[in-house]
Order: sequence, then structure tokens, then C-alpha cells
Amino acid sequence: NRDRIMQSERLNVVSQLAASVSHEIRNPLTVTSGFLQLLNKSRTITPKEKEYVDLSLQELNRAEKIVSDYLSFAKPQSENVIYSNMSVEFEYTKNIIIPYASAHNVEVKFSFSNSLNKSYERSQLQQCLINLYKNGIEAMKDKGGGTLFIDISERKQDIVIRIQDIGIGMTKEEISRLGKPYYSTKEEGTGLGMLMVYSTINKMNGSIEVDSEKGKGTTFLITIPT
Ligand code: ADP
Ligand code: MG
Repeated sequence: NRDRIMQSERLNVVSQLAASVSHEIRNPLTVTSGFLQLLNKSRTITPKEKEYVDLSLQELNRAEKIVSDYLSFAKPQSENVIYSNMSVEFEYTKNIIIPYASAHNVEVKFSFSNSLNKSYERSQLQQCLINLYKNGIEAMKDKGGGTLFIDISERKQDIVIRIQDIGIGMTKEEISRLGKPYYSTKEEGTGLGMLMVYSTINKMNGSIEVDSEKGKGTTFLITIPT
């Protein structure tokens, strides 16, 4: 149906644009925040000036968060489709997320098989996985930690990615809002992570199933056809 096709094309353009914009913006953000931190250490800075510098740093931090939901962890690479073994990406994102998990008292249990050859866009797939892992970890924050289970396997012609947390969970209503731009229940959330996830999986003709219970936890089941 035509409406749906147009909608998913629009999502593709949005996600590509966002990825390249994020890329370009990351460096100036880092440089500016570095200089402001130096300024903050100046011995001649007045209290009023320090207040302005602190506010600027806070705002930069907010911008950095928005960018990081698109591309902060992923390797800077062009967004071309490659044919490769997806397990390379699983290994890479696993190594990236482990320090973040440890910092939140979360243990990560990974299992994936080694022969997952498919065409995909590397940095988008990486970012998509990281956004899902991050949400799982953040969902267990208020519980003081927990375990994140990640299982990736091949089933017939599909790649099946299962990400399970034992965090705060969601109501039906909350699940229905996932992927809507700027929908976030977190104090410092961007509400852009799941938008990126939905648009990436959508682009790969995959599907996302969410199974969640308030207070108990959430399981994301992603199926990507090969
Ligand atoms: P953000 O993480 O910045 O809030 P996201 O788009 O990544 O934005 O997620 C949107 C919202 O979806 C979150 O604020 C949270 O309420 C909900 N959510 C996503 N993943 C989970 C999860 N694993 N457990 C509970 N809630 C979740
Ligand atoms: Mg998120």
C-alpha cells in the first residue's frame, strides 16, 4: 500500500540525513566544550562569567546526547550498504556497551553464532543495536542493576535478535508510543533512540516485536530477512 511505502521512504531520508548531520556536528561540539572547560579553570574568571560557562557546557552536553543517539558510538564510516558477516558488528557493539553496562551495575549475557552474512549499512546497524542495549541498561537503573540478555541467531532465512532486560517495563500505551520522535520518559532522554531503531529495521524490511510488562521487564524481538 502506497501510503506505507511513502512513509518508510521518508524515514529512510530522515535517518540518512540525521546520521550525516550527527557526524559533522560531533567535532565542533567536542572542541567547543574543551575550550569552555579551559576557560572555566581560568584564575581571573568572575562568578557571573563562570555561571555562563557552566550553562553553556550544560547545553553542549544536551546537544551531545542528541547526537549520541544517532552516531556517537558507531565508527565514522560512509553509509553505504556492504555485504558482510554481521557477527563482526555484534562483537564490536558488545565491546562498546560493556563499560556502560558495568557503570550501571548491569551484567551482559551475549550469545551469537558466527555465520550471519547479510547486506546492511554498518554504522546504522551498530547504532541501532547500541540504542537498544542502552535502553535495556537504563531500564534497570532504578532497580540498581540487573542482567541484559542478548541473543542473536539465524532461523531459516532470518536473523533473529532478542534483547531482554529485567527493568521497569512498559504499559501497552507506552509501547504504542515507542519510535515517536521526542517521546521519552527519562529526565535527560532525547526520545530519538527508538526512532532511529525503527527506521533502520524498517529499511532492512525487518520487524520489531515488543513484549513488556510494567515492573517486570522488556523483550525486543527483531527479525531481519536475509
Ligand atoms: P530515550 O532513551 O532518550 O528516552 P528512546 O527513543 O531510546 O529515548 O526511548 C524512548 C522511551 O521508550 C524511553 O524514554 C522509555 O520510556 C521507553 N523504553 C525504551 N526501551 C525501553 C526498555 N527496554 N524498557 C523500558 N522502557 C523503554
Ligand atoms: Mg534511548
